[in-house]
Amino acid sequence: MEERTEPWNIAAQLDELRAQDLWRELTPLDEVEGVIVRAGGREWVNFSSNDYLGLAGSPEMRAALEEGIAKYGGGAGASRLVCGTHRVHRELEDALADFKGTEAALTFSSGFAVALGTIPALVGPGDTIILDKLCHASLVDAARLSGATIRVFPHNHLEKLERLLGTAKGRVLVVTESIFSMDGDAALLREIVELKERHGAWLLVDEAHAVGVLGPQGRGLAAALEVDQRVDLHLGTLSKAFGLSGGYLAASRQVIDLMVNRARSFIYSTAPPFHLVHALVAILRHIRSERGDALRKAVRDNAQRTKNMLSSMGLGSPNTPAAILPVLLGEERLAISASQRLRAAGFLIPCIRYPTVARGSARLRITVNGPHSISQIDALGAALRAAV
Ligand SMILES: *Cc1c(COP(=O)(O)O)cnc(C)c1O
Repeated sequence: MEERTEPWNIAAQLDELRAQDLWRELTPLDEVEGVIVRAGGREWVNFSSNDYLGLAGSPEMRAALEEGIAKYGGGAGASRLVCGTHRVHRELEDALADFKGTEAALTFSSGFAVALGTIPALVGPGDTIILDKLCHASLVDAARLSGATIRVFPHNHLEKLERLLGTAKGRVLVVTESIFSMDGDAALLREIVELKERHGAWLLVDEAHAVGVLGPQGRGLAAALEVDQRVDLHLGTLSKAFGLSGGYLAASRQVIDLMVNRARSFIYSTAPPFHLVHALVAILRHIRSERGDALRKAVRDNAQRTKNMLSSMGLGSPNTPAAILPVLLGEERLAISASQRLRAAGFLIPCIRYPTVARGSARLRITVNGPHSISQIDALGAALRAAV
Protein backbone atom coordinates (compact mmCIF):
# COMPACT_ATOMS: atom_id res chain seq x y z
CA MET A 1 0.00 0.00 0.00
CA GLU A 2 1.14 3.45 -0.81
CA GLU A 3 1.77 5.54 2.26
CA ARG A 4 -0.52 8.50 2.68
CA THR A 5 1.42 11.70 2.36
CA GLU A 6 -1.51 14.07 2.32
CA PRO A 7 -1.63 15.45 5.88
CA TRP A 8 -5.27 16.54 6.09
CA ASN A 9 -7.01 13.38 4.94
CA ILE A 10 -10.38 15.08 4.72
CA ALA A 11 -11.80 12.46 2.37
CA ALA A 12 -10.63 9.67 4.67
CA GLN A 13 -12.19 11.40 7.66
CA LEU A 14 -15.50 11.69 5.84
CA ASP A 15 -15.33 8.03 4.78
CA GLU A 16 -14.65 7.04 8.36
CA LEU A 17 -17.73 8.96 9.58
CA ARG A 18 -19.89 7.23 6.96
CA ALA A 19 -18.47 3.82 7.86
CA GLN A 20 -19.35 4.36 11.51
CA ASP A 21 -22.88 5.63 10.79
CA LEU A 22 -21.85 8.97 12.24
CA TRP A 23 -22.17 10.97 9.01
CA ARG A 24 -24.36 14.04 9.32
CA GLU A 25 -25.64 16.48 6.79
CA LEU A 26 -27.77 19.59 6.80
CA THR A 27 -31.42 19.19 5.82
CA PRO A 28 -32.33 22.00 3.42
CA LEU A 29 -35.73 23.62 3.98
CA ASP A 30 -37.57 26.15 1.85
CA GLU A 31 -40.09 27.30 4.42
CA VAL A 32 -40.79 27.15 8.14
CA GLU A 33 -44.32 27.99 9.19
CA GLY A 34 -45.01 27.27 12.84
CA VAL A 35 -44.56 23.52 13.34
CA ILE A 36 -44.70 22.82 9.58
CA VAL A 37 -41.55 22.78 7.47
CA ARG A 38 -41.48 22.51 3.66
CA ALA A 39 -38.93 21.62 1.02
CA GLY A 40 -39.21 20.74 -2.65
CA GLY A 41 -43.00 20.78 -2.56
CA ARG A 42 -43.26 18.37 0.39
CA GLU A 43 -44.04 19.13 4.01
CA TRP A 44 -43.30 17.67 7.41
CA VAL A 45 -44.48 18.22 10.95
CA ASN A 46 -41.48 19.46 12.88
CA PHE A 47 -40.89 17.65 16.19
CA SER A 48 -37.31 18.87 16.53
CA SER A 49 -37.53 22.57 17.37
CA ASN A 50 -36.78 24.10 20.76
CA ASP A 51 -39.15 26.96 19.97
CA TYR A 52 -41.30 25.44 22.73
CA LEU A 53 -43.92 28.16 22.98
CA GLY A 54 -44.16 28.75 19.24
CA LEU A 55 -43.03 32.34 19.63
CA ALA A 56 -40.54 32.48 16.74
CA GLY A 57 -43.19 32.90 14.05
CA SER A 58 -45.86 34.50 16.25
CA PRO A 59 -47.62 37.80 15.52
CA GLU A 60 -46.13 39.17 18.78
CA MET A 61 -42.63 38.38 17.52
CA ARG A 62 -43.19 39.96 14.12
CA ALA A 63 -44.63 43.08 15.72
CA ALA A 64 -41.78 43.37 18.23
CA LEU A 65 -39.13 42.90 15.53
CA GLU A 66 -40.78 45.37 13.16
CA GLU A 67 -41.02 47.96 15.92
CA GLY A 68 -37.35 47.32 16.76
CA ILE A 69 -36.28 47.72 13.13
CA ALA A 70 -38.28 50.93 12.76
CA LYS A 71 -36.75 52.32 15.95
CA TYR A 72 -33.16 51.11 15.71
CA GLY A 73 -32.33 49.53 12.35
CA GLY A 74 -29.80 46.72 12.55
CA GLY A 75 -26.44 46.00 14.12
CA ALA A 76 -24.73 47.50 17.16
CA GLY A 77 -21.47 48.27 15.33
CA ALA A 78 -19.00 46.99 17.91
CA SER A 79 -18.51 45.46 21.31
CA ARG A 80 -20.27 47.34 24.09
CA LEU A 81 -17.00 48.22 25.80
CA VAL A 82 -15.81 49.90 22.61
CA CYS A 83 -18.98 51.45 21.25
CA GLY A 84 -20.96 52.25 24.37
CA THR A 85 -23.96 50.41 25.77
CA HIS A 86 -27.27 51.35 24.24
CA ARG A 87 -30.17 51.88 26.63
CA VAL A 88 -32.02 48.94 25.05
CA HIS A 89 -29.29 46.49 26.16
CA ARG A 90 -29.59 47.74 29.73
CA GLU A 91 -33.34 47.50 29.53
CA LEU A 92 -33.15 43.81 28.54
CA GLU A 93 -30.56 43.02 31.22
CA ASP A 94 -32.56 44.76 33.96
CA ALA A 95 -35.64 42.82 32.85
CA LEU A 96 -33.71 39.51 32.82
CA ALA A 97 -32.29 40.16 36.31
CA ASP A 98 -35.78 40.93 37.58
CA PHE A 99 -37.10 37.77 35.88
CA LYS A 100 -34.39 35.55 37.37
CA GLY A 101 -34.44 37.26 40.80
CA THR A 102 -30.77 38.29 40.70
CA GLU A 103 -29.03 41.63 41.17
CA ALA A 104 -27.83 41.80 37.59
CA ALA A 105 -27.58 40.07 34.23
CA LEU A 106 -25.37 40.23 31.16
CA THR A 107 -26.36 39.22 27.62
CA PHE A 108 -24.19 37.50 25.03
CA SER A 109 -24.63 36.65 21.34
CA SER A 110 -25.56 33.03 22.13
CA GLY A 111 -25.94 30.59 24.97
CA PHE A 112 -22.77 28.88 23.82
CA ALA A 113 -20.92 32.18 24.11
CA VAL A 114 -22.15 32.66 27.69
CA ALA A 115 -20.55 29.41 28.79
CA LEU A 116 -17.30 30.01 26.90
CA GLY A 117 -16.99 33.52 28.32
CA THR A 118 -18.11 33.13 31.89
CA ILE A 119 -16.67 29.83 33.14
CA PRO A 120 -13.03 30.63 32.25
CA ALA A 121 -13.54 34.11 33.74
CA LEU A 122 -14.45 32.59 37.10
CA VAL A 123 -12.12 29.61 37.53
CA GLY A 124 -8.68 28.65 36.24
CA PRO A 125 -5.67 26.43 36.92
CA GLY A 126 -5.68 25.31 40.56
CA ASP A 127 -9.49 25.42 40.72
CA THR A 128 -11.96 22.57 40.18
CA ILE A 129 -15.02 22.24 37.97
CA ILE A 130 -17.37 19.37 38.75
CA LEU A 131 -19.74 18.53 35.88
CA ASP A 132 -22.66 16.20 35.42
CA LYS A 133 -21.63 13.64 32.79
CA LEU A 134 -24.47 14.71 30.46
CA CYS A 135 -23.64 18.42 30.44
CA HIS A 136 -23.91 20.22 27.09
CA ALA A 137 -20.86 20.62 24.84
CA SER A 138 -20.70 24.37 25.56
CA LEU A 139 -20.20 23.67 29.28
CA VAL A 140 -17.61 20.97 28.63
CA ASP A 141 -15.66 23.16 26.21
CA ALA A 142 -15.80 26.10 28.60
CA ALA A 143 -14.50 23.92 31.43
CA ARG A 144 -11.59 22.76 29.26
CA LEU A 145 -10.82 26.29 28.16
CA SER A 146 -10.65 27.48 31.77
CA GLY A 147 -7.66 25.27 32.61
CA ALA A 148 -9.30 24.21 35.88
CA THR A 149 -9.17 20.57 36.96
CA ILE A 150 -12.25 18.83 35.53
CA ARG A 151 -14.12 16.17 37.49
CA VAL A 152 -17.22 14.42 36.15
CA PHE A 153 -19.96 12.63 38.09
CA PRO A 154 -22.31 10.09 36.47
CA HIS A 155 -25.64 11.67 35.56
CA ASN A 156 -27.43 12.89 38.71
CA HIS A 157 -25.22 10.66 40.92
CA LEU A 158 -25.28 12.55 44.23
CA GLU A 159 -22.92 10.29 46.20
CA LYS A 160 -20.22 10.62 43.57
CA LEU A 161 -20.78 14.39 43.45
CA GLU A 162 -20.38 14.54 47.23
CA ARG A 163 -17.15 12.53 47.08
CA LEU A 164 -15.76 14.84 44.39
CA LEU A 165 -16.74 17.90 46.45
CA GLY A 166 -14.86 16.41 49.40
CA THR A 167 -11.55 16.25 47.53
CA ALA A 168 -11.78 19.28 45.21
CA LYS A 169 -9.08 21.94 45.32
CA GLY A 170 -9.21 25.71 44.93
CA ARG A 171 -12.42 27.45 43.99
CA VAL A 172 -14.98 24.76 43.29
CA LEU A 173 -17.69 25.22 40.67
CA VAL A 174 -20.44 22.62 40.23
CA VAL A 175 -22.02 22.75 36.77
CA THR A 176 -25.29 21.18 35.66
CA GLU A 177 -28.16 21.69 33.27
CA SER A 178 -31.62 21.91 34.80
CA ILE A 179 -33.44 20.01 32.03
CA PHE A 180 -30.95 17.88 30.12
CA SER A 181 -30.96 18.62 26.42
CA MET A 182 -30.71 15.09 25.04
CA ASP A 183 -32.36 13.08 27.83
CA GLY A 184 -35.08 15.52 28.80
CA ASP A 185 -34.90 14.65 32.49
CA ALA A 186 -34.32 17.04 35.37
CA ALA A 187 -31.28 17.63 37.57
CA LEU A 188 -31.75 16.90 41.28
CA LEU A 189 -31.35 20.60 41.96
CA ARG A 190 -32.56 20.65 45.58
CA GLU A 191 -30.06 17.97 46.57
CA ILE A 192 -27.26 19.51 44.52
CA VAL A 193 -27.87 22.90 46.15
CA GLU A 194 -27.64 21.29 49.61
CA LEU A 195 -24.38 19.57 48.71
CA LYS A 196 -22.67 22.57 47.15
CA GLU A 197 -23.59 24.71 50.17
CA ARG A 198 -22.28 22.13 52.62
CA HIS A 199 -18.94 22.17 50.77
CA GLY A 200 -18.75 25.89 50.12
CA ALA A 201 -18.80 25.43 46.35
CA TRP A 202 -20.59 27.55 43.76
CA LEU A 203 -23.29 26.24 41.45
CA LEU A 204 -23.90 27.14 37.80
CA VAL A 205 -27.22 25.96 36.35
CA ASP A 206 -27.81 26.02 32.59
CA GLU A 207 -31.57 26.48 32.15
CA ALA A 208 -31.52 26.44 28.32
CA HIS A 209 -34.44 24.00 28.10
CA ALA A 210 -36.37 25.18 31.15
CA VAL A 211 -36.46 28.94 30.90
CA GLY A 212 -39.74 30.15 29.44
CA VAL A 213 -41.21 26.67 29.85
CA LEU A 214 -41.10 25.75 33.55
CA GLY A 215 -41.65 27.54 36.84
CA PRO A 216 -43.69 30.59 37.77
CA GLN A 217 -43.80 32.96 34.77
CA GLY A 218 -41.43 30.56 33.00
CA ARG A 219 -38.53 31.42 35.31
CA GLY A 220 -37.08 27.92 35.07
CA LEU A 221 -36.67 24.73 37.11
CA ALA A 222 -34.68 26.29 39.98
CA ALA A 223 -37.55 28.74 40.53
CA ALA A 224 -40.11 25.91 40.24
CA LEU A 225 -38.22 24.04 42.99
CA GLU A 226 -37.79 27.24 45.02
CA VAL A 227 -34.01 26.98 45.11
CA ASP A 228 -33.29 29.78 42.62
CA GLN A 229 -32.07 32.14 45.34
CA ARG A 230 -29.40 29.60 46.27
CA VAL A 231 -28.04 29.16 42.73
CA ASP A 232 -24.95 31.33 42.21
CA LEU A 233 -24.87 31.51 38.42
CA HIS A 234 -27.95 31.27 36.19
CA LEU A 235 -27.12 30.62 32.57
CA GLY A 236 -29.74 30.58 29.85
CA THR A 237 -30.42 31.01 26.19
CA LEU A 238 -32.68 33.44 24.36
CA SER A 239 -32.65 31.12 21.33
CA LYS A 240 -35.10 28.42 22.42
CA ALA A 241 -38.39 29.28 24.20
CA PHE A 242 -37.62 32.97 23.56
CA GLY A 243 -37.75 32.25 19.83
CA LEU A 244 -34.85 34.57 18.91
CA SER A 245 -31.16 34.24 19.66
CA GLY A 246 -28.70 35.19 22.36
CA GLY A 247 -27.86 34.09 25.88
CA TYR A 248 -27.55 35.52 29.36
CA LEU A 249 -25.80 35.11 32.69
CA ALA A 250 -27.82 36.25 35.72
CA ALA A 251 -25.88 36.59 38.97
CA SER A 252 -24.75 39.04 41.64
CA ARG A 253 -23.74 42.57 40.64
CA GLN A 254 -20.11 41.78 41.46
CA VAL A 255 -20.03 38.70 39.25
CA ILE A 256 -21.57 40.61 36.35
CA ASP A 257 -19.05 43.46 36.81
CA LEU A 258 -16.25 40.88 36.70
CA MET A 259 -17.70 39.38 33.49
CA VAL A 260 -17.70 42.79 31.80
CA ASN A 261 -13.97 42.86 32.51
CA ARG A 262 -13.06 39.22 31.94
CA ALA A 263 -15.54 37.30 29.76
CA ARG A 264 -13.77 37.23 26.42
CA SER A 265 -16.81 36.19 24.35
CA PHE A 266 -18.53 39.33 25.68
CA ILE A 267 -15.59 41.70 25.37
CA TYR A 268 -14.38 40.68 21.92
CA SER A 269 -17.71 40.15 20.18
CA THR A 270 -20.10 42.67 18.67
CA ALA A 271 -23.15 43.37 20.81
CA PRO A 272 -26.42 41.73 19.68
CA PRO A 273 -28.34 43.92 17.17
CA PHE A 274 -30.59 46.56 18.74
CA HIS A 275 -33.81 45.47 17.03
CA LEU A 276 -33.32 41.94 18.29
CA VAL A 277 -32.71 43.17 21.84
CA HIS A 278 -35.79 45.36 21.62
CA ALA A 279 -37.84 42.34 20.53
CA LEU A 280 -36.40 40.26 23.38
CA VAL A 281 -37.64 42.80 25.92
CA ALA A 282 -41.16 42.50 24.48
CA ILE A 283 -40.96 38.70 24.27
CA LEU A 284 -39.81 38.43 27.88
CA ARG A 285 -42.83 40.49 28.94
CA HIS A 286 -45.03 38.17 26.88
CA ILE A 287 -43.45 35.04 28.39
CA ARG A 288 -44.12 36.36 31.91
CA SER A 289 -47.74 37.25 31.17
CA GLU A 290 -50.93 35.20 31.55
CA ARG A 291 -50.70 34.53 27.83
CA GLY A 292 -47.31 32.97 28.57
CA ASP A 293 -48.97 30.77 31.21
CA ALA A 294 -51.42 29.54 28.57
CA LEU A 295 -48.57 28.75 26.16
CA ARG A 296 -46.75 26.84 28.91
CA LYS A 297 -49.89 24.86 29.66
CA ALA A 298 -50.15 23.90 26.00
CA VAL A 299 -46.56 22.59 26.08
CA ARG A 300 -47.29 20.66 29.28
CA ASP A 301 -50.50 19.12 27.94
CA ASN A 302 -48.90 18.14 24.63
CA ALA A 303 -45.86 16.67 26.37
CA GLN A 304 -48.10 14.65 28.70
CA ARG A 305 -50.13 13.31 25.77
CA THR A 306 -46.93 12.34 23.94
CA LYS A 307 -45.42 10.71 27.03
CA ASN A 308 -48.57 8.66 27.59
CA MET A 309 -48.47 7.58 23.97
CA LEU A 310 -44.80 6.54 24.19
CA SER A 311 -45.36 4.58 27.40
CA SER A 312 -48.35 2.79 25.89
CA MET A 313 -46.02 1.72 23.08
CA GLY A 314 -43.38 0.50 25.54
CA LEU A 315 -40.98 3.14 24.31
CA GLY A 316 -40.57 4.56 27.79
CA SER A 317 -39.91 8.17 28.46
CA PRO A 318 -38.31 9.88 31.40
CA ASN A 319 -40.24 11.05 34.37
CA THR A 320 -39.79 14.65 33.44
CA PRO A 321 -41.59 17.96 33.64
CA ALA A 322 -40.09 18.89 30.28
CA ALA A 323 -40.97 18.52 26.61
CA ILE A 324 -37.88 16.64 25.37
CA LEU A 325 -38.79 13.00 24.90
CA PRO A 326 -35.99 10.72 23.75
CA VAL A 327 -36.73 7.31 22.26
CA LEU A 328 -33.61 5.28 22.93
CA LEU A 329 -32.71 2.88 20.12
CA GLY A 330 -29.07 2.07 20.85
CA GLU A 331 -27.21 1.36 17.65
CA GLU A 332 -26.58 4.34 15.40
CA ARG A 333 -27.93 2.52 12.34
CA LEU A 334 -31.28 1.84 14.02
CA ALA A 335 -31.78 5.48 14.91
CA ILE A 336 -30.88 6.60 11.39
CA SER A 337 -33.35 4.29 9.72
CA ALA A 338 -36.14 5.11 12.20
CA SER A 339 -35.57 8.81 11.57
CA GLN A 340 -35.68 8.21 7.81
CA ARG A 341 -38.90 6.21 8.04
CA LEU A 342 -40.48 8.99 10.06
CA ARG A 343 -39.32 11.50 7.46
CA ALA A 344 -41.04 9.44 4.77
CA ALA A 345 -44.19 9.43 6.92
CA GLY A 346 -44.17 13.24 7.20
CA PHE A 347 -42.29 13.94 10.44
CA LEU A 348 -39.03 15.76 11.02
CA ILE A 349 -37.41 14.07 14.03
CA PRO A 350 -33.64 14.00 14.36
CA CYS A 351 -31.63 10.95 15.26
CA ILE A 352 -29.09 11.94 17.89
CA ARG A 353 -25.78 10.09 17.82
CA TYR A 354 -22.23 10.19 19.09
CA PRO A 355 -20.58 12.57 19.88
CA THR A 356 -23.75 14.36 21.05
CA VAL A 357 -24.57 11.28 23.16
CA ALA A 358 -22.47 8.26 24.11
CA ARG A 359 -21.68 5.64 21.45
CA GLY A 360 -24.38 2.99 21.26
CA SER A 361 -27.01 5.22 22.88
CA ALA A 362 -28.39 6.69 19.68
CA ARG A 363 -31.94 7.91 19.87
CA LEU A 364 -34.78 9.78 18.31
CA ARG A 365 -35.27 13.10 20.07
CA ILE A 366 -38.89 14.19 20.02
CA THR A 367 -39.39 17.80 21.05
CA VAL A 368 -42.97 18.76 21.74
CA ASN A 369 -44.10 22.36 21.25
CA GLY A 370 -47.24 24.09 22.48
CA PRO A 371 -48.60 24.69 18.95
CA HIS A 372 -48.59 20.99 17.99
CA SER A 373 -52.17 19.82 17.51
CA ILE A 374 -53.63 16.71 19.11
CA SER A 375 -54.07 15.16 15.66
CA GLN A 376 -50.40 15.81 14.80
CA ILE A 377 -49.33 14.08 18.02
CA ASP A 378 -51.64 11.13 17.43
CA ALA A 379 -50.42 10.81 13.84
CA LEU A 380 -46.84 10.79 15.16
CA GLY A 381 -47.82 7.87 17.41
CA ALA A 382 -49.07 5.87 14.43
CA ALA A 383 -45.91 6.66 12.45
CA LEU A 384 -43.68 5.68 15.37
CA ARG A 385 -45.45 2.37 15.73
CA ALA A 386 -44.51 1.60 12.12
CA ALA A 387 -41.01 3.09 12.27
CA VAL A 388 -39.33 1.59 15.34
C1 LIG B 1 -28.82 25.04 23.13
C2 LIG B 1 -28.03 24.96 24.38
C3 LIG B 1 -27.03 25.90 24.66
C4 LIG B 1 -26.59 26.90 23.65
O1 LIG B 1 -27.49 27.96 23.49
P1 LIG B 1 -27.48 28.74 22.09
O2 LIG B 1 -28.18 30.01 22.42
O3 LIG B 1 -28.23 27.87 21.13
O4 LIG B 1 -26.06 28.94 21.72
C5 LIG B 1 -26.40 25.83 25.88
N1 LIG B 1 -26.73 24.88 26.79
C6 LIG B 1 -27.66 23.96 26.53
C7 LIG B 1 -27.98 22.94 27.57
C8 LIG B 1 -28.33 23.96 25.32
O5 LIG B 1 -29.24 23.02 25.06
